[in-house]
Amino acid sequence: MGNNLEGLFSPHGVRDGGRFDVAVIGGGTAGAFAAASAADAGAKTLLIEKNGVLGGTMTVGGVSFPGLFFAWGEQIIGGKCWDLIKRAEELGGADIPEMIRVPKHHFDLQIRLNPFVWAAALDEMINKYGVKLLLHTMLADACPENGGVALILAQKDGMKKVRAKKIVDCTADADAVRMLGFPVEKSTSLQPATLYVRGTKLDPQPDLDALGAEAEKALEDGRLPPWVKPRSCVKLVKGLDISYHVDCPADADGSEGKTRLEVAARRDALKVAEFIRAFPGCEKFTFDAFAPECGVRETCRIVGETVVTADDYISGRVFPDAVCNAFYPIDRHKPPYAIHQVFFKEGEYATVPYSALIPRGSDDVLAAGRCISADADALSALRVQAVCMATGQAAGCAAAIAAGLSGSVREVDIKSLRAELKRQNAILPKEIKE
Ligand SMILES: Cc1cc2nc3c(=O)[nH]c(=O)nc-3n(C[C@H](O)[C@H](O)[C@H](O)COP(=O)(O)OP(=O)(O)OC[C@H]3O[C@@H](n4cnc5c(N)ncnc54)[C@H](O)[C@@H]3O)c2cc1C
Repeated sequence: MGNNLEGLFSPHGVRDGGRFDVAVIGGGTAGAFAAASAADAGAKTLLIEKNGVLGGTMTVGGVSFPGLFFAWGEQIIGGKCWDLIKRAEELGGADIPEMIRVPKHHFDLQIRLNPFVWAAALDEMINKYGVKLLLHTMLADACPENGGVALILAQKDGMKKVRAKKIVDCTADADAVRMLGFPVEKSTSLQPATLYVRGTKLDPQPDLDALGAEAEKALEDGRLPPWVKPRSCVKLVKGLDISYHVDCPADADGSEGKTRLEVAARRDALKVAEFIRAFPGCEKFTFDAFAPECGVRETCRIVGETVVTADDYISGRVFPDAVCNAFYPIDRHKPPYAIHQVFFKEGEYATVPYSALIPRGSDDVLAAGRCISADADALSALRVQAVCMATGQAAGCAAAIAAGLSGSVREVDIKSLRAELKRQNAILPKEIKE
């Protein structure tokens, strides 16, 4: 790679995109906060995002209900992510529930966000901290270079090479980590992926009981895709959102697997729409909105310096290098609709160690979001959005510190990292024994 590439491309070759202290790849749930935190910590920071909008699964995946910032009535995740929730509320785009100590369901504590407002608020934050943002830019390759990392970016106007002292992989699929040859692991049976669609509210409403009954029959005789719930058809004609599961291919961390997933999900949705339109009184039915990308729960995860186990997680272990908290039950979806859930004992919540953000043996690379190092059950809880944001904040600060010292990410002093996170108003785990 590197200079050898230049002869392979168009006459203008691979252009120089400049040098940065920190480059964050993926401007989704975790990445936007990693970039803002690195820049706030003094690093010259680049944020690379393949889509035309920030937010990742929260915007293009239609999953705009982050959890959980509070545990047992106490705020456990804060900092830039909480500031942005408050900013979204100010803009009329966040519905923050009362954070009662023991809600009926854990998800009652999730915040309902308007995806447009969230995307626009992310733009504001990235701009405020002076992050250089490249949208419509896909990481094409990565390799070590002169004590840092060279990144090849595919852009509309050709290929570009940028150099960074440290990078944070927030692609959710550990793209950069894999390109750099660090090990990743994957469960043998992945959780299902999900597509969000919103139906047209029909006026007058058809006979809803009869539609539900017909949907039951259609499921049996194959007119509806196998994982669509009959009551979803009823919800759709009321103008509501539904999310339905789609089998997640083992290679959904690559473009070919993702392509098969997206096409299969839309083909199934079209089958649902055709079924509904054939029902008396539903001739005008269509979808009013859909998420441009499938929500993917799980692909590969890094093998880190520490691998968080389900037992570490649910016992509320306070890691010696803990950098943030986490609170959500273990929540592993099994196709088609079963969920393996394990809840915390009252008063407990988990912590996330910094070493779970470090690919094993890495000096210049960190990861944040849903590809951090944990076993499959622990990750099924750690993947929720508030935790992704908090790991983004921690990885961004750590990358900035390591870049500033020209040292390895493995040598970042935990006290200095916690001090920087504290300065940025993040909430640190309690009971840390220094
Ligand atoms: C169906 C579903 C329901 C869920 N429900 C909840 C819930 O109720 N509450 C909750 O808190 N969490 C929920 N989650 C979990 C949560 O939404 C995700 O785990 C989390 O958003 C992942 O964040 P991330 O930053 O790791 O990835 P993402 O938010 O997906 O961000 C990754 C970003 O990287 C970009 N990217 C990827 N590859 C490249 C590349 N090569 N070059 C450039 N850019 C790249 C992507 O475009 C994207 O913007 C749910 C997830 C799913 C799928």
